[in-house]
Amino acid sequence: MSQTMTLVRADLCRKCGGEMNISEKCKQCRKPITLRCTECDHASNVQFHPLCIYG
Ligand SMILES: [Zn+2]
Ligand SMILES: [Zn+2]
Repeated sequence: MSQTMTLVRADLCRKCGGEMNISEKCKQCRKPITLRCTECDHASNVQFHPLCIYG
């Protein structure tokens, strides 16, 4: 139960608070675009990369 301050705190499921796995990565900058919950399979969009996509 070691809770450290992490920069990324958005990778917890909004529904059940479970861990989110990276479901889709940006092909350009390799940052996560879509996360999927390992518990309830709820998917959430992290961020869109219009510049990357259309680059
Ligand atoms: Zn990108
Ligand atoms: Zn969940």
